[in-house]
Amino acid sequence: MSDNSDSFRTTFETASMCPKCGFIGEDRGTSPGPKKSTIHHIYCGNARCKWYNTPYLVQVNEDGSIPKPTNHTGEKKVYEGFEGHDERARELIDIFKRNAQAEIKPCGAEILWITRKNVLKN
Ligand SMILES: [Zn+2]
Repeated sequence: MSDNSDSFRTTFETASMCPKCGFIGEDRGTSPGPKKSTIHHIYCGNARCKWYNTPYLVQVNEDGSIPKPTNHTGEKKVYEGFEGHDERARELIDIFKRNAQAEIKPCGAEILWITRKNVLKN
């Protein structure tokens, strides 16, 4: 078991190395990744590096394996949302749904107006 965790640590440290300078970056947090994996947000701590304080991501799978990093250079940029954007999107979807329902209800106009007012308030 200790062998496994040692080799995991080595693999993780290797994966945590800054792609620019090879400095082992600082793990500042995680977020859930695809297929129950964990995405570690690693920041380069080498002040002389171009990527200093720049986050790069290391994925750790559910079984503890670390997939080889993929080079996304030249690929389409992935949209990076702001803090809480998922919740905000869900709220907006709920409002749209309620508006859609309001339109088929007899007293829908008033409900529609109230939800519009809430949208403007935000
Ligand atoms: Zn670096």
